[in-house]
Amino acid sequence: MRVLNFGSLNVDYVYQVDHMAREGETQRAAGREAFPGGKGLNQSVAAARAGVQVCHAGLIGDDGQMLLDVCRENGIDTRFIRAIDGPGGHTIIQIDKNAQNSILLYPGSNGALTEDFVDEVLSHFGRGDTLLLQNEVNLLPYIIDRAHEKGLTIVLNPSPINETLASCDLSKVSVFFINEIEGGAISGAHDPEKILDHMLKTYPDARTVLTLGGAGSCFCDAHSRIHQAAFPVSAVDTTAAGDTFTGYCVYGMLKGLAWAETLELAARAAALSVTRKGAVPSIPYLEEVLNFT
Ligand code: ADP
Repeated sequence: MRVLNFGSLNVDYVYQVDHMAREGETQRAAGREAFPGGKGLNQSVAAARAGVQVCHAGLIGDDGQMLLDVCRENGIDTRFIRAIDGPGGHTIIQIDKNAQNSILLYPGSNGALTEDFVDEVLSHFGRGDTLLLQNEVNLLPYIIDRAHEKGLTIVLNPSPINETLASCDLSKVSVFFINEIEGGAISGAHDPEKILDHMLKTYPDARTVLTLGGAGSCFCDAHSRIHQAAFPVSAVDTTAAGDTFTGYCVYGMLKGLAWAETLELAARAAALSVTRKGAVPSIPYLEEVLNFT
């Protein structure tokens, strides 16, 4: 069970502030913490904790040692994580006294992939391997084209939605993972069934998993539709719920589980993740997921 994730690696710098800094204002923050993040990294950790052999490819900057450490602690193959000079991908998050946040995202090294690097990484993979992608690194259209030529199975979480996706040949994608916002932006519809109708009509050979937060998830391919309820939990922090869900679905796919079983497992894992704070620390291991009722 091998997956290559060509994805973002971010450091999230969280600052405790009294209020969001106003235009022209200089405000002293009461505290600062740094956490590993990025959809790419979160999904790699989720798949790895589920039991998938994950190889993560991407670029880190000057401050990326903690990201490498997290990958290694989770048994992720880091041979294609390279460090470049300059700032890595990071967010600057202000959290005010009412627990509201504002987020500034700087792509840094996540936007510095080169075609040579993509070619070098993909030369080690081929038919039978799965490629997991999100939309937080540059060269997404190129990665999809080259991976498809080499026969990899492409799994895409097209998040965040932006103009890059219009340049991607999405007919080369085998499985889409989208949430309601992404589904709405892609299809122009709001109703989940209509979003799935649109996906099926536009990409008849692909499978789509649509997540609906606390309302669960649904799946469609040319033959079937499946609905999976969310497991009722008291939610503390939904950060990385979607990433946990995706990582566990990748496990189910690679293990050859039926989709109904895969969605149920992923819903259990994601439910556990929302009962805990943070991104990486909230992602459960397979054993906990199997014991969760
Ligand atoms: P994203 O984080 O990508 O927006 P969603 O919010 O749709 O993803 O959540 C992904 C999955 O996580 C859902 O399909 C559901 O299984 C689970 N989930 C999300 N929020 C909750 C919640 N409040 N209670 C239980 N499960 C949840």
